Amino acid sequence: MADLNPRQREAVKYLDGPLLVLAGAGSGKTSVITRKIAHLIEYAGYPGRHIAAVTFTNKAAREMKERVGKLVDRRAARGLTVATFHNLGLTILREEHDAVGYHPGFSIFDAEDARALLRDLLAEHAADTGLEIGDLQATISSWKNAMLLPDQALSRANDAREERFAVIYQHYADYLKAYNALDFDDLILLPVLLFRNHEEVLQKWQRRIRYLLVDEYQDTNLSQYELVRMLVGHRQGLTVVGDDDQSIYAWRGARPENLAQLKEDFPSLKIVKLEQNYRSMRRILSTANTVIANNPHVFDKALWSELGVGDPIRVLRCRNEEGEAERIASEILDQRLRSRSEYRDFAVLYRGNHQSKLLEIKLQAYQVPYKISGGTSFFARNEIKDAMAYLRLLTNPDDDVAFLRVVNVPRREIGPRTLEQLTGYARQRGMSLVRALDEVGAESHIQGRALEKLRRFTHFLHDTRRQLETGDDTLGVIRRMFTDVEYEEWLHQNASSAKQAQKRMENVWYLLDSIEQMEPNEDDGETEQTLEEAVSRLVLRDILDRQEEEDDSDRVQLMTLHASKGLEFPNVFIMGLEEELLPHRSSIESETIEEERRLMYVGITRAQRCLTLTYAGQRKQYGEVIEPIPSRFLDEMPDEHVEREGDSDKDPEANQRRGRATLSALMDDLS
Ligand code: ATP
Ligand code: MG
Repeated sequence: MADLNPRQREAVKYLDGPLLVLAGAGSGKTSVITRKIAHLIEYAGYPGRHIAAVTFTNKAAREMKERVGKLVDRRAARGLTVATFHNLGLTILREEHDAVGYHPGFSIFDAEDARALLRDLLAEHAADTGLEIGDLQATISSWKNAMLLPDQALSRANDAREERFAVIYQHYADYLKAYNALDFDDLILLPVLLFRNHEEVLQKWQRRIRYLLVDEYQDTNLSQYELVRMLVGHRQGLTVVGDDDQSIYAWRGARPENLAQLKEDFPSLKIVKLEQNYRSMRRILSTANTVIANNPHVFDKALWSELGVGDPIRVLRCRNEEGEAERIASEILDQRLRSRSEYRDFAVLYRGNHQSKLLEIKLQAYQVPYKISGGTSFFARNEIKDAMAYLRLLTNPDDDVAFLRVVNVPRREIGPRTLEQLTGYARQRGMSLVRALDEVGAESHIQGRALEKLRRFTHFLHDTRRQLETGDDTLGVIRRMFTDVEYEEWLHQNASSAKQAQKRMENVWYLLDSIEQMEPNEDDGETEQTLEEAVSRLVLRDILDRQEEEDDSDRVQLMTLHASKGLEFPNVFIMGLEEELLPHRSSIESETIEEERRLMYVGITRAQRCLTLTYAGQRKQYGEVIEPIPSRFLDEMPDEHVEREGDSDKDPEANQRRGRATLSALMDDLS
């Protein structure tokens, strides 16, 4: 522990009660969690299987596992849980699904699946009311995060709109149950309800998880907090770390108040503050501190760093958005040579995903390798969604969303009328489509050839399922299934080129390979990964990481400010520092600038050595050219640490200077 500072050491060693580490960015909070896991295992005698650490993203969980792996013996760490909240919820539900009325092999609906169901319900129950699907989905999600069940939501509804939403919420919950499916929020909500209603189940999990650690605590919402509170129980084995200045998920129900709430719920809570920052050079840190000082503060934190002053923060004004993208590309090439960095040492952060498009084009033009975190995911590809739907149907025949997705993929000539009739029949009886098919009889409109085709499809699935149950070559059976349905031929009919179809088929095989390579969950003493588990983990992984790929190649990383949380890079660009972009227009309108400022703070504090900020003098917006106002956050930065460059790509001298710098760096490199 010699390399920890005294406060960090104190936090790691403290085991007498619940502990909160409250500290600013880069002060080693995540490091404390990692070290504390090692300490618990190596010195405090906790077996790995009794420890759980909760992080915010899959990427963070992976990194933490890796770090712990370096610190402790593999055998002692066996069974250690390092997971996101949702993954932890899934682990609980996989074991306890009976108690919440679900069958094994339940499906997890991603936002798009849920939306498809909600769209139908909205049309059925609120046609012509002008109510919006996005609003409906967000409202239901916020109810779930606040642990309100449909009847509670209904009785608390403030107006006609909320009443309607609450009614739909009830139907939505009923359908999910009928489909044996959960949505994303259920992964937290259901375990909480389960623990509330089944004391013995709660006790079992409290015995299992004897020490709980939570990273990025400021971003937990109410249901997540409740899950923490219940799991910890009277044992009080809890360490949470957080920074209220980095709370950026209020829009998803996160409650930084949870930090203060801890003190009330755990009266013996000990608080440790860390103040030394180990990540950033001093100018970067001062700038971050000055910007965030514009927010009101509950907890005062003063960060300092020993890492030297560093270069000034550069603010570059570019002609327009194209100029901005181009400038970033050329700057990366330039800085890379000058500081002898690798591409992976650079990150470009932005407020919204749409901002990456132009940048990608320019990076390609300049031959700068890059990767996007959080863009279109592998799992958003059509062929992968098809394949996943087949897998979901194999593990859960009642998954109607999956059924409807692939019933005509490849084409089986089952018409929309037939499907509509089948859906109507199933809805009336509150059953899934597959079950409805088993029992439709003479009174139904679905007759003759249509029924025959549908039944042929379900028989085929049924057969495949039986082969899976009796044989032991799971993946072999699945691979054969894709061959039998002639999926590849179908891809060829629908792709623009043979090469494209081939690529798509390869993606499907890649998916199946990755299932084969998934490790069994050792916690349950399982030595084999069941297909059900693999499928649910994959769906969850997809929802959570949207392409936080495990990829070590040397590339510039592009991501949203939100996705950058917890990460660090030697060189950081933040683009689009303009009013209405950052701060975002919606936050200006709803006067939630403070959350945008925290986002800015998160962005600045990702940088270790070099921070560059850009904005455009002109930008196209809804087909119109506007002249955006530079972001107020630029004004809030201290002049002594900031170098503001004028209209850079119009200034030939600046270009020449840059050219010379690049040239001399090149010479250096060669010599
Ligand atoms: P964030 O708020 O951004 O999540 P954090 O508080 O979790 O940041 P860490 O990511 O744990 O901070 O640490 C930031 C950097 O400082 C890491 O590179 C880490 O390895 C390093 N670090 C942490 N503690 C020390 C220490 N005592 N000595 C040297 N380096 C340290
Ligand atoms: Mg951290």
